[in-house]
Amino acid sequence: MVSVLNNAQGWPVAGHQWAVELLQRAAHNGPSHAYLFLGPRQVGKSTLARAFAQTLLCTNEGKRPCGECRACRLLEKGSYPDFRLIQPVDKAGAVDRLDGQIRTEQAADIIHDVALRPAEGRYKIFIIQDIHNANDSFANKLLKTLEEPPAHAIMCLTALDRSSVLPTIVSRCQIVELRSLEVQHVEQALCNQWQAEPAQAALLARLANGRLGWAVEQLKNTNTQKERIEQLQMLWRLVGADRIERLTMAEQMASNRNNQQLFGLLELWTLWWRDILLAQAGNFEACCNIDQQSQIVRQAALLPAQQVQRYLHTLKRIETYLHHTVNTRLALDVLLLQMPYTEEKT
Ligand SMILES: [Zn+2]
Repeated sequence: MVSVLNNAQGWPVAGHQWAVELLQRAAHNGPSHAYLFLGPRQVGKSTLARAFAQTLLCTNEGKRPCGECRACRLLEKGSYPDFRLIQPVDKAGAVDRLDGQIRTEQAADIIHDVALRPAEGRYKIFIIQDIHNANDSFANKLLKTLEEPPAHAIMCLTALDRSSVLPTIVSRCQIVELRSLEVQHVEQALCNQWQAEPAQAALLARLANGRLGWAVEQLKNTNTQKERIEQLQMLWRLVGADRIERLTMAEQMASNRNNQQLFGLLELWTLWWRDILLAQAGNFEACCNIDQQSQIVRQAALLPAQQVQRYLHTLKRIETYLHHTVNTRLALDVLLLQMPYTEEKT
């Protein structure tokens, strides 16, 4: 496996410069026993935590992480004996980062494991992903370990934001809060690290909303790119559809899609309508859907800006509503009926 050491410090991480520097100093001066990485989904929290782990465990004194020593190679394969990745699981115990939970049973394993001395490294490092999806019992069990860990243990937790984690956990960790990456950082990383074609990198970097992990996932899966076009075409049909057609579509969507797919769709629609609004303001450079420029120009000319602006608020409202309700059908009825309308063919 080729190790990708791309940024100035040689860390396999794109962007997040200040966080890389903070962790590098920590690795040099002696790390804290617990870190909490905060930031949006797929922004690079776990990648950064892994790079930190690799730096702490690398055996090459000259340049850490070297990407070549036994520790670095095993860590990249996920098989280093003193490294543990704990992820949310479904009821059957399979990893499920969308709807899974970190469960009480997993806490017992961690507590047992933390106490054992490292097999070959200086440290034993645990990455616990999506701690916002931990049940309270797990979180409470973990508290004591976070409070009085053995000197060899380092816990790296990841979560979406501070408010989604128990305050008692937050207060025991050093916080590393990541912001969305700049478009050009994502674009560069896609070209240099993932060998994307320039046009594709430019498009995905704009659609990614600062999340490199999301862009990489799209790049690897050509199906998702085809789906995006189909979903945009559906949206364009809806713009010219009457009330009955829209309600029929809402019914179909409510029965066919799970919540995660719906949130993905809402995100795509939000980016689309934001592009229309930007185009109406003459700000074409800021548009995300750069492969659909002629369609953006056409819709921007046909639809009143006020309607588009109002609809962006509706999208936001419905998204919040869907996070808290089971009445998906009602939410989708509103969402589709309020979409801007034109009789002209778009
Ligand atoms: Zn190494």
